Formats: sequence, C-alpha cells, structure tokens
Amino acid sequence: MSKKWVYRFDEVKQAEEYVGGEWENVRGLLGGKGANLSEMVLIGVPVPPGFTVSTEACNAYLASGETFPEGLREQILEALRNVEESTGRKFGDKKNPLLISCRSGGKFSMPGMMDTVLDIGLNDETVKGLLEMTGDERFVYDSYRRLVQMFGSVVMRAPDEAFEEVLTAARLKAGVETDAELTADDWKNVTVKFKAIFRRYANRDFPTDPYDQLNLATEAVFKSWNGKRAVDYRNATGIPHDLGTAVSIQTMVFGNMGNDSATSIALTHNGTTGENRIEGDYLTNAQGEDVVAGIRLTNEISKLKAEMPAAYKEFEQYAQELEKHYRDMQDVEFTIEKGKFWMLQTRDGKRTAQAAVRIAVEMVEEGLISREEAVLRVSPEQVDVFLHPQFDQNAIKAAKTAGDMLAKGINVSPGAAFGVIALEADLAQKWANEEGKNVIMVRPETKPDDVHGMLASKGILTSRGGRTSHAALVARQFGKPAIVGVSELEIDLIKREISVKGRVFKEGEWISIDGTEGEFYAGKLETIVPDIKDPYLMTLLSWADEFRRLGVWANADYPVDAKRALEYGAEGIGLCRTEHMFFETERLPLVQKMILTDIPSERREALDELLPFQRDDFIGLYRVMDGKSVIIRLIDPPLNEFLPNQVNLMRELTELKFLLRDAGTLDEMNELLDKIEEKRHILRRVESLHESNPMLGLRGVRLAIHIPELTAMQVRAIIEAACIVAKEGVEAHPEIMIPLTIHVNELKSQRDILDVEAEKVMKEHGIEVPYKLGTMIELPRAALVADQIAEYAEFFSFGTNDLTQTVFGISRDDAEASFLIKYMAQGILTENPFAVLDRDGVGELMRIGVQKGRSVRPDLECGICGEHAGNPESIHICHELNLSYVSSAPFQIPIARLAAAHAALRDKNK
Ligand code: PEP
Ligand code: MG
Repeated sequence: MSKKWVYRFDEVKQAEEYVGGEWENVRGLLGGKGANLSEMVLIGVPVPPGFTVSTEACNAYLASGETFPEGLREQILEALRNVEESTGRKFGDKKNPLLISCRSGGKFSMPGMMDTVLDIGLNDETVKGLLEMTGDERFVYDSYRRLVQMFGSVVMRAPDEAFEEVLTAARLKAGVETDAELTADDWKNVTVKFKAIFRRYANRDFPTDPYDQLNLATEAVFKSWNGKRAVDYRNATGIPHDLGTAVSIQTMVFGNMGNDSATSIALTHNGTTGENRIEGDYLTNAQGEDVVAGIRLTNEISKLKAEMPAAYKEFEQYAQELEKHYRDMQDVEFTIEKGKFWMLQTRDGKRTAQAAVRIAVEMVEEGLISREEAVLRVSPEQVDVFLHPQFDQNAIKAAKTAGDMLAKGINVSPGAAFGVIALEADLAQKWANEEGKNVIMVRPETKPDDVHGMLASKGILTSRGGRTSHAALVARQFGKPAIVGVSELEIDLIKREISVKGRVFKEGEWISIDGTEGEFYAGKLETIVPDIKDPYLMTLLSWADEFRRLGVWANADYPVDAKRALEYGAEGIGLCRTEHMFFETERLPLVQKMILTDIPSERREALDELLPFQRDDFIGLYRVMDGKSVIIRLIDPPLNEFLPNQVNLMRELTELKFLLRDAGTLDEMNELLDKIEEKRHILRRVESLHESNPMLGLRGVRLAIHIPELTAMQVRAIIEAACIVAKEGVEAHPEIMIPLTIHVNELKSQRDILDVEAEKVMKEHGIEVPYKLGTMIELPRAALVADQIAEYAEFFSFGTNDLTQTVFGISRDDAEASFLIKYMAQGILTENPFAVLDRDGVGELMRIGVQKGRSVRPDLECGICGEHAGNPESIHICHELNLSYVSSAPFQIPIARLAAAHAALRDKNK
C-alpha cells in the first residue's frame, strides 16, 4: 500500500498518531492551515468540507523532479468523493457542481507568499449548473473569469498586467468605475479575452477538465514553495527551506452571492495595540481576496453587527472559542454565504511588539496562559522594538505649526521613521541596500511581490487598504512603522511623484511617518530615544526576572548612563571604562602632559590634577548605584590613542619651520623656536610610542606596570570617592578590575600597589570601605591559567571583544570592513563572531576559565562585559556556562533580562 499523503479534515487523529502525538509535528505534516482546519472540525466550528495533501507529498514531488508520488492522485480522488458525499454536490457536474479551492499552507504562516487557486471546477458546462443553483448570472461569470485569471497568473505565470488591461478596457467600455458595476455579459466577454491571454502565455487552451485543473493547481502550489518571494520571506524570517507546503483542498463557499453574503478577515485582539477587542475588515457581496488586496474600500467589522446580526453573533462566539482553544490571539477568515456562517481559516495573529507584550500579559491575567508561557511568547527582538526611536514632540509640534503634517491614515504598525520616497519595491531595495539610503516605501497598496522592498525600507505608507491589508500584516510582522489607507494621498507612478493637499513630492524627497499616530509629515523630523515605561512590558520583564538565573548588569561610564541602566533593571555596573573620561576636553591636556613628560614630579603633578575629576566621576556612579556593585576598570588603551596624530604633527612642524624662515623679529623667532622644540618633543614621544600592533602592545595592565603612579592615582580616586559617599550614608561597592591580564604575576604586582594605596586613603579618611580586586579574562592564556589567576583575583569578567579577536587572530576593526563579510556571505562563518559568541572556540575557553577559576574559589563571580552580553543567542551560552551575570549596554538591559529568562526556561523545559 502506498504511503498516506492525504488527510481529510476529520482525520486529524490519524495524522497525530502518524507523527507521534506532537501538535507541532501535525502542523509540520498538514501545514498550519491544514492542521487548524482539522482542529476546527474537531471542536465543532463550521468549516467547509475538505482535505489536506501533506507537506511530505510536496517534498516528494519536488525531490522527484516534479512528479506526483505514487498513490497521491488516487488518494486525492478518494478524498474528493468524500467531499462530494458530504456536500451533496459533484465535481464537474453540469447540474450541481462542486467547486473547490486549493490553498498553500506551510508549517509556519507565510502570508501571501505562496499560491492559492479558487473556483476550481468551473468550465463552460459547469457554469450552467452553478447558474441553476444560484440563479445569479453575474456572480457565476465573475467567478468563472476569476478562475481563468488565477489559473493564468498563478499556474501559468502570465503577467497580472495582461489581465488588468482587459479589465480596464471593459470598465471604460461599460462607462463604469469599479469591477463591481460590470454585468454578467461584460464578464462573459472578459472571460473570452482571458482565455486568449491564457493561450498566448501557456501555449495551450485553458483546461476545461476539472480534474486537470485540480492537478495543475496542486502542482502550482507545490512549486510555489520554491518561488522567489517565498524563498525571500523564509530567508528574512529564518523559516527552514526544507519543510515544504501542504495543500488544503476545500469546498468553495461564496461571499459574493448577494447582500446576505459577505467575506471578512478579522483579528480577535487589536493587532497594533493588543487591546482585547475584535478588529477587522469586511465586504458585503465580495470574495476573500478583495479584502486582502485592499482594492475595494472595506468596512469596519463592527458594522457587520448591524448589517447581519445573526451571522455576527456566530462569528463572535466562534472567534472567542478559537482564541480560548488556541490560547492565543487568532487571525480568522470567514465567509457568510446567503446568511450561513463558514470559518475558512484560523491562525495565530501577527502583531506588533507592543501588542505581543500586552496580549501575553492580559492572557495571564485572564488565566488563559501561565507567566512562563507569556515570557516565552515575547521574543527579545520584540523588546528591542520598544527601544526604537520616536519623533521628538517638539519636532512634531513645529511641523504641525508649519503645516507640514500632510495627512492621517490608519496607524497599523507603530514607531517613527523618516526616509526618501521610493515608489517601487526594487528601487526601495536598491536605494537602501546598495546606496545606504533611508527609504520610505510608498505604494497604493502592497503585494507579496513587494516584500523585499518593504524589508529594506524604514517604513511603509499606502493610500489604500485597511488594518488587515497585506501592507499592515507585513509591517507589523517585521516591526516596520506603517500607515495605510491614506485616502488623501495620490500616487502617480508615471510622473513618479505623490501629492497630498495640493503639495507634490517627487520620488527621492524626504518624508517622515509616525506609525503610532498614523500621521505623516513633509521632510525629516528629529527622533529621540524612547521611554520604555510601557506598563505591560514592565510587568512582563518583572516575570522574566523571576525565572532567570543570570544577573543582568550594565556597562556604564557616567552617572546618567548608570541611571538609565538602573531604570531598565540593571543590578550592578559590570564595566566602567575609566579611559573614556580621559578624553574630555579639560582632561585630555592633563593626560597628554602625564604621558609626554619624563620628569617624575611633572607626571605626579598631572596625575594630581586628574585625580579630582576621576573622583567626582566615581562619586556620581556610587550615588546612583547605592548598594550595588560597581566594577571600575583601570586604564586600558595604548597611550598613543591620547596623543595627537603623527602625520598632523609633522605637518604642523613643517609649517612652523616655514614661519621661522619668514620671522621678522628676534622675539618672534624665539617664540617659534620654542614651539618647534615643543612639537619636536611631542613628535619624538609619539614616535617612541608608535606600535605596529597596538591592540597587542603596551596597553591594559602592561601600561599600569609601566606607569605605576597611574594605578595609584586611579585607586586613590576610586577609594576616596567610596569614603566620601560612605560618610553621606551611600553604600559603595567598588570592584577594581585589571584589564588584559596574561600572568598571575601581573596581578600580584598590581595588588601590592592597590592595597597600599587603598589602606592609605582609608586611613586619611578615617573610614573603612569594602573593595575587591578582580580581572578581565580577555586573552586565551588568562582563561587557560584561570586557576592561578583566581588565587589573586576575587572576580572574573570575560572581555569577549578582545577574547574573540585573540582567539580568532582577527583584528575586528579591520576585518568587519573587509574579509569577514565575504566569510559570512560564503558561509565559511555562519555568524559574525563579534556579534554572536563563538560557542566552540571562545565559549570553550570561557568554560575552561570558569571551571578552573571556581576550582580555586568556588564562589568566584564570573561575568561577561564584551558586546556579546546584549545578544540573545550569546546570553543563552552564558547561561549554560553558569556565569554570574551579563553586563550589556544600558539599552540592551531589557533584552538581556528577557533573553536570560528564555535561556533558563528552555533549560528547565529540556
Ligand atoms: C572586551 O574586550 O570585551 C572589553 C569589554 O573591553 P574593551 O571592549 O574595552 O576592549
Ligand atoms: Mg578589552
């Protein structure tokens, strides 16, 4: 017996048994759509009868060079017989014809990316039967032309424009504006012309045999799995390419059978804000694709309540049932055929990050899901969206006063974006990806073929479409700010310009869109850093905190950063890079003086002058972090980073020499000579500090050993600041961190200076403050001898920026701009190791470091302060390595909190 390729909607149990009981695998076998149709049948939601051809059949078809696997044809026929029995109609019958749809549906929803063919079974003969059944000639011929059109474009790949031309001509001839006004005779003529187009592009006649139609449509759906837009979409969303699509074959029901018929797409919650209120669009007397395409102006779903109260009530009840059943917001598609309600599809609804968070939190409050599930339902990337820029309120006010607020549309995807207008997807992609421009894609409506342009754009603006239009769905999914349905907006694709309220903007001109409010503006509005105090996000993150094991700390140099980090939930400062403060204008000359002089007293003088600045920095940090650890790293970069550029110095010296030649007086000459001598001195010093590989040179602890007074000054500033705030009642927990250690003896030497200085300071202030000494582990040797190092270090912090550079032997600054891109494009490296922690190499060294370190000090605090600390995948590795905390940039704290919770929950659920 051949394999089972086809499952009737009422055979979900068999499917479940075949895949071993897991619902995820049922979705893998029948596709999300097929699995949900079966599930709906099981729970008693009215679904038009049908069956699903499995993804395994699709994969077998594609693998065999596009032939149906053995038994598939027969199984489809058998299932079709069953549908005929339950509907009382017959496929291809002249009197009582059964019409079917053939829809794609992979494991994961890929809205509009694959093909669908409707009205299969119509031909010159069955048309008569349908006419008899419905008595509606216009509807019948409209359906027929839709089939020929879909077959032409989807199955035979004839261009849409060829059909559009005929439609436009028909409207012109009939003197009407919309397709809805065309008569049955108009549609008959159009159908004849469509068949001619079909013949021209397919080199064959339109297939009149319904079984041929069904086979061809099934094959078209199989093939659409590998269509360009489906592949692009999978690349963008990370859906694997080997899953294949299922094909759901289902009895057609019609929303275009008169004014007691309608079709709708709706969401059980608001997909933009997450509010618990049904939203959607519907059209009376229309077919489903009319709603999606956004070509006709749709009605708000709430109006259906008044128009068809009984059907609306049924819809509301099933929508609620489905949401309860799936325990998630649903995106449903339904049709009312002569007053009878049919659910055509349900799936988890796409939503904005804001809506995802709110829905997850409210569903916990409703008792529908657990806190754990809510936390797992929101991705760290969605939290990232909360941190995207918003327009500055002052800029908005100014733009409104200046009359630059152009129009308001439907606010379907929040966030602010500005960019140049691009009217085509290809151009949007080219401008964004090749020329690095900020682009706003502006279209009358969008289609699945436009997705690449939408992905490349910063925001999307359309003149048509509603909340469930293609543009809205895609924008929400990818977190792109979007406004749709701006009826005042006119788009001229020939002149390549848009106009609104009499103002004209050429393609390439700047506009700004506010997807939160649905308003768009002329020009480029200022954006600001967002405030993430969304109450739902705060609740969700507080739940995440209950689950995570990793601490979340922040890299912060200044009190203002520390304050932000604290607001975002940081539990300590994992890295304060002290050298950043040295670059400030009043301090740099002092730092240069300290470096340039050979005279100890002058050096001490410069350091004495620097001391109060450093002390004040630390006082600020301790006050903000009251009671929490503050890890302060001693100076790290090579000294020449603080000195003037060598080439500039040489040029200045030459200029001075020229001036000297032309000097008029002795005084002038003396002054110039002094200047020349000074420049020469600096140049000599710069030259003497020049290194071929500064990254591997005199920096980090090596520098501190080279200039011990520098360590003493920094330690003094750290401890003095702690003593001062302690007297104010502030609890300071300084942890002094040594960078770039390779040998335990480096630590020994630093420890001596440090303890002596700290003791001295505390005695002077008459107060004891607790402090710790630890080190960064950012060189392979340090990780390998971590047990020796741990004898002297009270804590470790993995500096994975340097550790990655030294493990790979790659200089980040050079490589990221050159060969690393090629390495990733060719798949030699699957990820940029500076963005995602390299588990096998760097991760392995970290594992050794932690294990050896803790073999000496079991409670050794081990953190990470490289940039990987803000990356969700890397955070997962840190969790597995049992680190104590991750220390990321303040803006990444919320992401890190959630990612750390995900790591812990996945670990637990393993
Ligand atoms: C590191 O190397 O990971 C680190 C945090 O130090 P820096 O980036 O300052 O070199
Ligand atoms: Mg480093």
